[in-house]
Amino acid sequence: MATVETVNGPIELDELGLTLIHEHFRATDEATRFQFPHLYDEDAEWEAAMADANGVKGHGVRTVVEPSAMFLHRDAAFSKRVADESGLNVVLATGIYTYDHLPQPLLNRDEDQIAEIFAHEIENGIQGTGIKAAFIKCAADEPGVTPNVEKIHRAAARASRQTGRPIMAHSHPKSGTGLEQMRVLTEEGVDPAKVQIAHTGDTDDLDYIERLLDTGCWIGMDRYGLDFFLPTEQRQATVLALLEKGHADRMFLSQDWCSTLDWFTPEAEEQLKPVMAPNWSMTFLFEQVIPELRQRGMTDEQLDQMMVENPKRWLA
Ligand SMILES: [Zn+2]
Repeated sequence: MATVETVNGPIELDELGLTLIHEHFRATDEATRFQFPHLYDEDAEWEAAMADANGVKGHGVRTVVEPSAMFLHRDAAFSKRVADESGLNVVLATGIYTYDHLPQPLLNRDEDQIAEIFAHEIENGIQGTGIKAAFIKCAADEPGVTPNVEKIHRAAARASRQTGRPIMAHSHPKSGTGLEQMRVLTEEGVDPAKVQIAHTGDTDDLDYIERLLDTGCWIGMDRYGLDFFLPTEQRQATVLALLEKGHADRMFLSQDWCSTLDWFTPEAEEQLKPVMAPNWSMTFLFEQVIPELRQRGMTDEQLDQMMVENPKRWLA
Protein backbone atom coordinates (compact mmCIF):
# COMPACT_ATOMS: atom_id res chain seq x y z
CA MET A 1 0.00 0.00 0.00
CA ALA A 2 1.14 3.52 -0.78
CA THR A 3 2.41 5.68 2.06
CA VAL A 4 2.61 9.42 2.75
CA GLU A 5 5.60 11.19 4.29
CA THR A 6 4.83 13.05 7.53
CA VAL A 7 7.09 14.85 10.02
CA ASN A 8 7.31 11.48 11.79
CA GLY A 9 8.07 9.43 8.73
CA PRO A 10 5.88 7.55 6.27
CA ILE A 11 2.37 6.47 7.27
CA GLU A 12 -0.20 4.42 5.40
CA LEU A 13 -2.84 6.31 3.47
CA ASP A 14 -5.60 5.01 5.72
CA GLU A 15 -3.92 6.61 8.73
CA LEU A 16 -4.47 10.11 7.30
CA GLY A 17 -8.11 10.19 8.41
CA LEU A 18 -9.94 13.52 8.58
CA THR A 19 -7.51 15.92 6.91
CA LEU A 20 -7.20 19.68 6.69
CA ILE A 21 -5.40 20.17 3.39
CA HIS A 22 -4.17 23.73 3.88
CA GLU A 23 -3.35 25.28 7.28
CA HIS A 24 -0.25 26.91 8.77
CA PHE A 25 0.92 26.51 12.37
CA ARG A 26 3.07 29.59 11.76
CA ALA A 27 3.50 31.84 8.75
CA THR A 28 6.11 34.55 9.08
CA ASP A 29 8.73 36.18 6.91
CA GLU A 30 11.99 34.35 7.54
CA ALA A 31 14.25 37.25 6.51
CA THR A 32 12.48 39.78 8.72
CA ARG A 33 12.54 37.49 11.75
CA PHE A 34 16.16 36.45 11.28
CA GLN A 35 17.29 40.07 11.13
CA PHE A 36 14.85 41.61 13.62
CA PRO A 37 14.02 38.85 16.11
CA HIS A 38 12.81 41.36 18.72
CA LEU A 39 9.63 41.71 16.63
CA TYR A 40 8.73 38.06 17.29
CA ASP A 41 7.58 36.15 20.37
CA GLU A 42 8.53 32.47 20.07
CA ASP A 43 6.61 31.43 23.18
CA ALA A 44 3.40 33.08 22.00
CA GLU A 45 3.85 31.46 18.56
CA TRP A 46 4.24 28.05 20.14
CA GLU A 47 1.17 28.52 22.32
CA ALA A 48 -0.91 29.66 19.33
CA ALA A 49 0.17 26.65 17.27
CA MET A 50 -0.60 24.20 20.08
CA ALA A 51 -3.99 25.79 20.81
CA ASP A 52 -4.93 25.28 17.16
CA ALA A 53 -3.49 21.75 16.96
CA ASN A 54 -5.47 20.72 20.02
CA GLY A 55 -8.53 22.61 18.76
CA VAL A 56 -8.71 20.72 15.47
CA LYS A 57 -7.94 17.43 17.21
CA GLY A 58 -11.03 18.04 19.31
CA HIS A 59 -13.02 18.05 16.05
CA GLY A 60 -11.63 14.69 14.97
CA VAL A 61 -8.89 15.94 12.64
CA ARG A 62 -6.03 13.47 12.37
CA THR A 63 -3.85 15.15 9.74
CA VAL A 64 -2.92 18.72 8.92
CA VAL A 65 -1.19 19.41 5.61
CA GLU A 66 1.01 22.48 6.14
CA PRO A 67 1.99 23.90 2.74
CA SER A 68 4.63 26.28 4.02
CA ALA A 69 7.68 26.77 1.83
CA MET A 70 10.54 29.20 1.31
CA PHE A 71 9.33 32.73 2.26
CA LEU A 72 6.66 31.36 4.64
CA HIS A 73 9.20 30.39 7.29
CA ARG A 74 8.73 26.70 6.82
CA ASP A 75 10.41 25.12 9.85
CA ALA A 76 10.35 21.32 9.87
CA ALA A 77 11.54 21.05 13.49
CA PHE A 78 8.77 23.36 14.71
CA SER A 79 6.12 21.41 12.78
CA LYS A 80 7.46 18.13 14.17
CA ARG A 81 7.19 19.51 17.72
CA VAL A 82 3.55 20.43 17.03
CA ALA A 83 2.90 16.90 15.77
CA ASP A 84 4.72 15.27 18.68
CA GLU A 85 2.93 17.32 21.34
CA SER A 86 -0.54 17.06 19.77
CA GLY A 87 -0.48 13.59 18.24
CA LEU A 88 -1.57 14.98 14.85
CA ASN A 89 0.04 13.90 11.60
CA VAL A 90 1.65 16.92 9.92
CA VAL A 91 2.56 16.75 6.22
CA LEU A 92 5.12 19.18 4.81
CA ALA A 93 6.12 20.49 1.37
CA THR A 94 9.20 21.54 -0.48
CA GLY A 95 8.96 24.55 -2.76
CA ILE A 96 9.02 28.31 -3.03
CA TYR A 97 6.18 30.70 -2.23
CA THR A 98 6.84 33.77 -4.30
CA TYR A 99 4.64 36.12 -6.32
CA ASP A 100 7.71 37.19 -8.32
CA HIS A 101 10.79 37.98 -6.21
CA LEU A 102 13.66 35.52 -6.20
CA PRO A 103 17.00 35.98 -4.43
CA GLN A 104 20.28 35.78 -6.40
CA PRO A 105 20.99 32.12 -5.54
CA LEU A 106 17.72 31.18 -7.27
CA LEU A 107 17.89 33.78 -10.06
CA ASN A 108 21.22 32.25 -11.02
CA ARG A 109 19.97 28.66 -11.01
CA ASP A 110 17.93 27.25 -13.86
CA GLU A 111 14.76 25.14 -13.69
CA ASP A 112 16.63 21.85 -13.50
CA GLN A 113 18.92 23.04 -10.72
CA ILE A 114 15.94 24.25 -8.67
CA ALA A 115 14.14 20.97 -9.37
CA GLU A 116 17.18 19.23 -7.88
CA ILE A 117 16.77 21.25 -4.66
CA PHE A 118 13.14 20.15 -4.40
CA ALA A 119 13.99 16.52 -5.18
CA HIS A 120 16.68 16.60 -2.48
CA GLU A 121 14.07 17.52 0.13
CA ILE A 122 11.75 14.76 -1.08
CA GLU A 123 14.46 12.12 -1.13
CA ASN A 124 16.77 13.19 1.74
CA GLY A 125 14.80 15.52 3.94
CA ILE A 126 14.23 19.17 4.88
CA GLN A 127 16.71 21.42 6.71
CA GLY A 128 18.87 18.52 7.84
CA THR A 129 16.05 16.93 9.85
CA GLY A 130 15.52 13.85 7.69
CA ILE A 131 11.84 14.86 7.51
CA LYS A 132 10.84 14.33 3.90
CA ALA A 133 8.60 16.64 1.86
CA ALA A 134 5.41 14.94 0.67
CA PHE A 135 4.60 17.41 -2.11
CA ILE A 136 5.83 20.49 -3.96
CA LYS A 137 4.51 24.01 -3.49
CA CYS A 138 4.59 26.86 -5.98
CA ALA A 139 2.61 30.08 -6.27
CA ALA A 140 1.19 32.68 -8.62
CA ASP A 141 -0.75 35.70 -7.38
CA GLU A 142 -1.93 39.08 -8.66
CA PRO A 143 1.20 39.75 -10.79
CA GLY A 144 0.36 36.56 -12.72
CA VAL A 145 2.73 33.98 -14.15
CA THR A 146 5.80 36.23 -14.41
CA PRO A 147 9.07 34.79 -15.80
CA ASN A 148 10.32 34.04 -12.26
CA VAL A 149 7.02 32.42 -11.28
CA GLU A 150 7.03 30.37 -14.46
CA LYS A 151 10.57 29.19 -13.70
CA ILE A 152 9.50 27.93 -10.26
CA HIS A 153 6.47 26.19 -11.78
CA ARG A 154 8.67 24.45 -14.36
CA ALA A 155 11.09 23.43 -11.59
CA ALA A 156 8.19 22.10 -9.50
CA ALA A 157 6.91 20.18 -12.52
CA ARG A 158 10.30 18.61 -13.20
CA ALA A 159 10.75 17.64 -9.54
CA SER A 160 7.27 16.12 -9.61
CA ARG A 161 8.06 14.11 -12.73
CA GLN A 162 11.34 12.95 -11.20
CA THR A 163 9.88 11.93 -7.83
CA GLY A 164 6.21 11.26 -8.60
CA ARG A 165 5.12 13.72 -5.90
CA PRO A 166 2.04 15.95 -6.27
CA ILE A 167 2.06 19.74 -6.63
CA MET A 168 0.08 22.38 -4.77
CA ALA A 169 -0.08 25.68 -6.63
CA HIS A 170 -1.24 28.79 -4.76
CA SER A 171 -3.40 30.72 -7.22
CA HIS A 172 -5.19 34.06 -7.63
CA PRO A 173 -8.50 33.26 -9.35
CA LYS A 174 -9.41 36.93 -9.79
CA SER A 175 -6.53 37.19 -12.25
CA GLY A 176 -7.32 33.74 -13.66
CA THR A 177 -3.86 32.38 -12.82
CA GLY A 178 -5.08 28.80 -12.32
CA LEU A 179 -5.51 28.11 -16.03
CA GLU A 180 -2.14 29.62 -16.85
CA GLN A 181 -0.49 27.57 -14.06
CA MET A 182 -2.07 24.38 -15.42
CA ARG A 183 -0.83 25.26 -18.91
CA VAL A 184 2.78 25.56 -17.71
CA LEU A 185 2.67 22.43 -15.55
CA THR A 186 1.06 20.24 -18.19
CA GLU A 187 3.43 21.61 -20.83
CA GLU A 188 6.15 20.09 -18.65
CA GLY A 189 4.35 16.75 -18.81
CA VAL A 190 2.84 16.69 -15.32
CA ASP A 191 -0.29 14.56 -14.96
CA PRO A 192 -3.04 17.11 -14.14
CA ALA A 193 -4.41 14.67 -11.53
CA LYS A 194 -1.30 15.39 -9.45
CA VAL A 195 -1.97 19.13 -9.29
CA GLN A 196 -4.04 20.99 -6.72
CA ILE A 197 -4.88 24.60 -7.57
CA ALA A 198 -5.13 26.18 -4.12
CA HIS A 199 -7.44 29.09 -3.31
CA THR A 200 -9.83 28.37 -6.18
CA GLY A 201 -12.57 29.04 -3.62
CA ASP A 202 -11.62 32.73 -3.62
CA THR A 203 -13.95 33.14 -6.61
CA ASP A 204 -17.61 32.30 -7.19
CA ASP A 205 -17.13 32.36 -10.97
CA LEU A 206 -18.40 28.88 -11.77
CA ASP A 207 -17.42 29.21 -15.41
CA TYR A 208 -13.76 29.77 -14.46
CA ILE A 209 -13.86 26.96 -11.88
CA GLU A 210 -15.35 24.48 -14.35
CA ARG A 211 -12.81 25.38 -17.01
CA LEU A 212 -10.15 24.69 -14.40
CA LEU A 213 -11.76 21.36 -13.44
CA ASP A 214 -11.84 20.45 -17.13
CA THR A 215 -8.03 20.46 -17.10
CA GLY A 216 -8.17 17.51 -14.66
CA CYS A 217 -6.76 19.23 -11.56
CA TRP A 218 -7.94 19.33 -7.93
CA ILE A 219 -9.27 22.58 -6.47
CA GLY A 220 -8.81 24.03 -2.99
CA MET A 221 -11.94 25.58 -1.48
CA ASP A 222 -9.48 26.37 1.23
CA ARG A 223 -9.81 29.91 2.55
CA TYR A 224 -13.02 29.74 4.57
CA GLY A 225 -13.09 32.75 6.88
CA LEU A 226 -10.98 35.02 4.69
CA ASP A 227 -13.96 37.25 3.95
CA PHE A 228 -11.93 40.02 2.32
CA PHE A 229 -11.09 37.63 -0.53
CA LEU A 230 -14.66 36.25 -0.68
CA PRO A 231 -17.38 36.24 1.99
CA THR A 232 -18.47 32.93 3.53
CA GLU A 233 -21.94 32.99 1.98
CA GLN A 234 -20.49 33.14 -1.54
CA ARG A 235 -17.99 30.38 -0.71
CA GLN A 236 -20.87 28.22 0.56
CA ALA A 237 -23.06 28.82 -2.48
CA THR A 238 -20.13 27.97 -4.77
CA VAL A 239 -19.28 24.72 -2.96
CA LEU A 240 -22.94 23.68 -2.92
CA ALA A 241 -23.28 24.40 -6.65
CA LEU A 242 -20.15 22.34 -7.38
CA LEU A 243 -21.40 19.48 -5.18
CA GLU A 244 -24.64 19.51 -7.10
CA LYS A 245 -22.70 19.24 -10.36
CA GLY A 246 -20.91 16.17 -8.99
CA HIS A 247 -17.47 17.64 -8.21
CA ALA A 248 -17.06 16.37 -4.62
CA ASP A 249 -14.29 14.11 -5.90
CA ARG A 250 -12.13 17.09 -6.99
CA MET A 251 -12.51 19.50 -4.02
CA PHE A 252 -10.82 20.12 -0.68
CA LEU A 253 -12.20 22.15 2.24
CA SER A 254 -9.79 24.11 4.41
CA GLN A 255 -9.13 27.59 5.84
CA ASP A 256 -5.52 28.62 5.13
CA TRP A 257 -5.46 29.68 8.77
CA CYS A 258 -2.13 30.84 10.19
CA SER A 259 -1.71 30.35 13.95
CA THR A 260 0.76 33.24 13.77
CA LEU A 261 0.89 35.67 10.85
CA ASP A 262 3.30 38.62 10.83
CA TRP A 263 1.88 40.65 7.92
CA PHE A 264 0.66 43.38 10.26
CA THR A 265 1.77 44.91 13.54
CA PRO A 266 -0.14 43.43 16.50
CA GLU A 267 -2.05 46.73 16.82
CA ALA A 268 -3.10 46.74 13.15
CA GLU A 269 -4.04 43.08 13.34
CA GLU A 270 -6.35 43.79 16.26
CA GLN A 271 -8.12 46.45 14.20
CA LEU A 272 -8.18 44.61 10.88
CA LYS A 273 -9.23 41.07 11.82
CA PRO A 274 -12.80 41.96 12.91
CA VAL A 275 -13.26 43.81 9.61
CA MET A 276 -11.43 41.58 7.12
CA ALA A 277 -11.84 38.08 8.54
CA PRO A 278 -13.94 38.06 11.71
CA ASN A 279 -14.60 34.30 11.73
CA TRP A 280 -11.25 33.07 10.40
CA SER A 281 -9.73 30.32 12.55
CA MET A 282 -8.49 26.72 12.28
CA THR A 283 -11.86 25.44 13.55
CA PHE A 284 -14.32 27.68 11.65
CA LEU A 285 -15.09 24.80 9.24
CA PHE A 286 -16.29 22.57 12.06
CA GLU A 287 -18.08 25.25 14.04
CA GLN A 288 -20.06 26.86 11.22
CA VAL A 289 -19.21 25.91 7.66
CA ILE A 290 -19.77 22.15 7.74
CA PRO A 291 -22.95 22.23 9.87
CA GLU A 292 -24.40 24.79 7.46
CA LEU A 293 -23.35 22.85 4.34
CA ARG A 294 -25.02 19.76 5.82
CA GLN A 295 -28.18 21.69 6.52
CA ARG A 296 -28.20 22.89 2.91
CA GLY A 297 -27.85 19.42 1.39
CA MET A 298 -24.25 18.22 1.58
CA THR A 299 -24.23 14.50 2.36
CA ASP A 300 -21.91 12.69 4.78
CA GLU A 301 -20.46 10.85 1.78
CA GLN A 302 -19.58 14.12 0.07
CA LEU A 303 -17.90 15.44 3.23
CA ASP A 304 -15.96 12.21 3.65
CA GLN A 305 -14.94 12.40 0.00
CA MET A 306 -13.58 15.95 0.36
CA MET A 307 -11.84 15.60 3.72
CA VAL A 308 -10.76 11.94 3.90
CA GLU A 309 -10.71 10.32 0.45
CA ASN A 310 -9.45 13.22 -1.69
CA PRO A 311 -6.41 13.89 0.54
CA LYS A 312 -5.46 10.21 0.24
CA ARG A 313 -5.84 10.20 -3.53
CA TRP A 314 -3.97 13.49 -4.10
CA LEU A 315 -1.11 12.66 -1.72
CA ALA A 316 -0.76 9.11 -3.02
ZN1 LIG B 1 -1.39 28.96 2.69
